[in-house]
Amino acid sequence: MIYSDSDIRTLKGIGDKKAQAFNRLGIFTVYDLISFYPRKYEDRSLVRNISDLTDGDTCCIKAVVADDPKLSRIRRGLEIVRFRAFDDTGLVEISYFNQSYLKNVFSKGETYYFYGKAEKKYSRAALTNPTFEREEDAGSKTGRIVPIYRLSSGLTQKNVIDAVSTAVDLFADTVPEIINPGIRNRNELVQARFAYKNIHFPADIGSLELARKRLIFEELFLLSCSLGLRKHGIKKEDGFVIENASLPSFLDALPFTPTGAQMRAISECTTDMKSGHVMNRLLQGDVGSGKTLVAAALIYYAFNSGYSSALMVPTEVLAEQHYKNLCSLFSFFDLRIELLTGSTTAAEKRRIKNELRDGNIDLIIGTHALFSDDVIYSNLGLVITDEQHRFGVKQRSAIVEKAGNPHILVMSATPIPRSLALIIYGDLDISVLDELPPGRKKIDTYQVDESYRERLFAFVRKQVDAGHQVYIVCPKVDEDPSEELKSVKKYADELSAKLLGIRVDYMHGRMSAKEKDRIMSSFMINETKVLVSTTVIEVGVDVPNASLMIIENAERFGLSQLHQLRGRVGRGSDKSYCILVSDNSGDDVKRRLNILCSTNDGFVISEEDLKIRGPGDFFGERQHGLPEMHIADLGVNVNILQTARDEANALLESDPDLKKEENRALKEQVGFLLDKNLILN
Ligand code: ADP
Ligand code: MG
Repeated sequence: MIYSDSDIRTLKGIGDKKAQAFNRLGIFTVYDLISFYPRKYEDRSLVRNISDLTDGDTCCIKAVVADDPKLSRIRRGLEIVRFRAFDDTGLVEISYFNQSYLKNVFSKGETYYFYGKAEKKYSRAALTNPTFEREEDAGSKTGRIVPIYRLSSGLTQKNVIDAVSTAVDLFADTVPEIINPGIRNRNELVQARFAYKNIHFPADIGSLELARKRLIFEELFLLSCSLGLRKHGIKKEDGFVIENASLPSFLDALPFTPTGAQMRAISECTTDMKSGHVMNRLLQGDVGSGKTLVAAALIYYAFNSGYSSALMVPTEVLAEQHYKNLCSLFSFFDLRIELLTGSTTAAEKRRIKNELRDGNIDLIIGTHALFSDDVIYSNLGLVITDEQHRFGVKQRSAIVEKAGNPHILVMSATPIPRSLALIIYGDLDISVLDELPPGRKKIDTYQVDESYRERLFAFVRKQVDAGHQVYIVCPKVDEDPSEELKSVKKYADELSAKLLGIRVDYMHGRMSAKEKDRIMSSFMINETKVLVSTTVIEVGVDVPNASLMIIENAERFGLSQLHQLRGRVGRGSDKSYCILVSDNSGDDVKRRLNILCSTNDGFVISEEDLKIRGPGDFFGERQHGLPEMHIADLGVNVNILQTARDEANALLESDPDLKKEENRALKEQVGFLLDKNLILN
């Protein structure tokens, strides 16, 4: 990932039209081109003996043309140029279809390299339409490892190869070296110029591997340095020192004993809050792992040393839920808690805002409204955001600015593999709740196909008759809003007709927040028994009475997302089920869904998901701040990521502002990444 402004049109052979075709691939500058890595390679470097060819082999041979090519017209529209060629070991028949001009290209006695798929029948070897190069010119298409690039309309492989080759010839030697010699030596990394040449036109397999390793490392190293610098910048902010708070009295008053993981997370947070620096911490924990308790402990901690807290959540329903839960958790203590959302009455809002300004409220819970312009805080020490993915870094910094550097805890119920967490939340410290409170029941999960449809609906009825509630999730079938509505509505209508007497409702993403809240509330108070919905129910809503989750077309979801959805049930004391419906019987799908049936551990699932789908897909539409990787694969290159991070951290430790001469090029690149906000938007 190297930056240069020079337009690709400055390269010989690239005019406006080609440039546009390259633009479609995201290539605008010469350095874009140099870092447009091949999609794959064909190893044409090994030249085989004709006698060794086997049927179906793709291979390269070096052979002398044995006779003058003959052109025959088989029928209209079908012409063949045919000749034979030999090497020291045997003879091969070569034919080209509908390229009659080739008759005049090959002459008897000339030596060529041919590359293609061999046929071998009764010891007769043949090649059809092989790629060829004269012996004298060989080395770009045959006799070597050839790169294969992603194309767009208007570009051929040859166009891309030529353009990249020109760019590499002109610029590879001047690419700035961003990895200093010490780090290169320790990690056995080749120099930038070797890497850029060999990633495109490898001298041999070994060189290609060295080039790849270096560039993957470079990408992850650059990213780690950028994140490290950024974190460094944030860390320096002074924070309120919150100490001498008597947490034990709060913990002792709880109706249960906190888990070890909860205690660990609480102590990590309080250590931050005492440190004199602002806390910037992510609390990751599977659904049901008890993040609210950790939040409550910190709120109490802040309260005890005279600071107030704000808890911000994405929806009104969640805000109310937290309000209720926290009021009961704090019932023994003298905290003033208020709720501020879009539907708070104007008079109430005015009163709450006044009290906030005067510092009378110890805990304010609400939606984005909490940080609208007219809300003024007086002694805000702690801001907690729940279900983090809805709040990007920008919103976080807006809060920080507004409230004057409060400590920040972001809570996320999306367990993500540590490797990815380090990248995505690189500017946050991380605490993990990797332990569920005791007595949690496993959600029994099954995979079924359409043939179970009737039984499935009978099961829905059975659950409802037993007093429970049911979620049914349909994937978003269409980008078209009316289609989306139709599919959920149609499903709900059909279901109503089947389940006479049972109240079925539906919800989807195009509804207004108000409408969704209304539907959700009706489900929460057990008026609606069956809720058909798109994935909008994903975010931490708690309906303990819901015991069955059916997910239609389950193959369309990522594993982590399925796990998130499944977490909507099993929140009460009753046995809960999740049924994954999929008529796609491919082995891959079965294997994937089976992971869900076999474990309830979100971290295990997320590791698998990362391996299968790669990080790009990881958060679906909600993805925040993950930069595009050109060559590194965060699912696969975990070890390199680890070393690259360690090196980056060590480097920043010894040269915090990258002032040393040997780190100058690195500093420039990091600056570019951070300036352009290419990471963590
Ligand atoms: P989440 O991490 O999904 O936000 P919650 O904080 O909503 O989880 O907790 C889920 C449920 O577990 C709540 O009903 C909560 O009261 C309960 N809980 C939390 N911690 C414990 C614990 N240590 N022991 C028993 N139950 C707990
Ligand atoms: Mg929660």
